[in-house]
Amino acid sequence: MTMVEDLGRLSKRSGPQSSSLQDGSRIAVVGAGPAGSLFSYFLLNMAEAVSLDIGVDLFEPRHFCHRGPAGCNHCGGIVSESLVQRLATEGIMLPDGVVQRGIESYTLHMDVGDVEIETPLAEKRIAAIYRGNGPRNSEPLDTHSFDGYLLELAQEKGANLVPRLVTGVRREDNRMRVTCADQYCNDYDLAVIATGVNSRLVESLEDESREFRRPGRTKTFICEFLLGRDVIRDTFGPSMHVFFLDIPRLKFAALIPKGDYVTLCLLGKDIDDELMQQFFSSPEVMNCFPKGTVPSHVCHCYPRINIDAANPAYSDRLVMIGDSGTTRLFKDGIGASYRTAKAAARTVVFHGTGAEDFEKYYAPTCRAISKDNQVGKVVFGFGSLIQKSRFARRGVLRMTANEQKNANGSRRMSEVLWDLFSGSASYTDVFLRTLHPAYIGSLLWNLVAGNSPSASSRNGHGRGQECDRVEH
Ligand SMILES: Cc1cc2nc3c(=O)[nH]c(=O)nc-3n(C[C@H](O)[C@H](O)[C@H](O)COP(=O)(O)OP(=O)(O)OC[C@H]3O[C@@H](n4cnc5c(N)ncnc54)[C@H](O)[C@@H]3O)c2cc1C
Repeated sequence: MTMVEDLGRLSKRSGPQSSSLQDGSRIAVVGAGPAGSLFSYFLLNMAEAVSLDIGVDLFEPRHFCHRGPAGCNHCGGIVSESLVQRLATEGIMLPDGVVQRGIESYTLHMDVGDVEIETPLAEKRIAAIYRGNGPRNSEPLDTHSFDGYLLELAQEKGANLVPRLVTGVRREDNRMRVTCADQYCNDYDLAVIATGVNSRLVESLEDESREFRRPGRTKTFICEFLLGRDVIRDTFGPSMHVFFLDIPRLKFAALIPKGDYVTLCLLGKDIDDELMQQFFSSPEVMNCFPKGTVPSHVCHCYPRINIDAANPAYSDRLVMIGDSGTTRLFKDGIGASYRTAKAAARTVVFHGTGAEDFEKYYAPTCRAISKDNQVGKVVFGFGSLIQKSRFARRGVLRMTANEQKNANGSRRMSEVLWDLFSGSASYTDVFLRTLHPAYIGSLLWNLVAGNSPSASSRNGHGRGQECDRVEH
């Protein structure tokens, strides 16, 4: 529904409803990550469009200008091209200072070889960003935090930043009472939970309310390597390096170049020391680094990631957005924050803040994301099969490498992999493309050709003879 249709709907409303926002209504937004800041921005924008005078308190104890964990919201920092475009249509242009590096290609590393996958459309580019102000002990950057930039946008729209840690959100006489670690306490007409999944607040909300189940989550690993711009240009280039390795529980591993640093992200089920050991000692990983040696990292963390939606993600005068509510499985979490933030803002401005309003106008967005995640689980299931089968990996490598050599032919496998790595398309879209007869036919042919005795003897047990794009 467009904003114009929403405005029409608003003008047809018979009169003030108890759950509708009125002039003077006050909203508490807990957490100024992408979800909280974008929600505040959209809410104030939409309220202005219908001449609704409301106040937004945005609670955030973190200072995004700090380096290291104190200023960082722990993530790989890839902003998908579809999100860059969506933000642009909202008038939010990521400034050059926020984008650490435009990623122009993906390099897929497997035991059977490597292949570089170029961006499917020349004008499409994904952005690598820092959520805070760079790694621990790094030189002060001349660039800017992504989260800090979104927070400034929300403040420019009129959000009031409250630099406090919220410890409780409770219903009191039909209002929401927000309390903070320093005894601050205030009542609001609506409380928006945008704390992500690394906060104790969602746990305490679950403990207090028997009707709410917090999001499912699992442990991940991120670290930063300081290599210097010149080394990064010569070894990694403007390419994100993705690994398809036969390591149990590992769903996704990527090295992302950013300025003087390279960020490593390991996603999967409960990433632990054993899994990390296997990853760091695999030749495909070591060969990415200068002299084939993985250097010590300068900054690391084990943030949790949302793998299952909160249920329900709302009640009267309370709504969960971003990771605290629902997000895309292992991909494009910032894009999901944008979608849930906008859907929630539209619901409260144009419909109301009651549970029934959220059920009717906000829940469909959450359900669409969750439904797509179910397809995503099937896609990751196929990915695991390929991870386990050298036979399948050879076929995938051959098909992708041949597509990349042929500039004018169709690039079905390359596009599937690109959208899967970047999160630019939905899992459903990616899955449907893999059912196309031309995709299946080409994959079968490449499986046969890539595993024929002549191809096997060419490949031997060595690396990537099929692919001459990246050589170690
Ligand atoms: C290893 C890893 C890699 C990832 N890589 C990517 C990627 O490359 N691209 C991508 O799009 N997504 C990625 N994600 C997902 C992405 O980080 C999240 O989906 C996104 O940050 C969710 O935004 P959010 O605003 O909901 O929550 P968050 O970003 O977690 O922000 C929550 C905010 O709330 C604040 N807060 C918490 N508790 C309180 C409290 N009690 N009171 C006040 N404030 C509070 C926090 O300080 C924080 O600023 C990754 C996640 C992980 C774990």
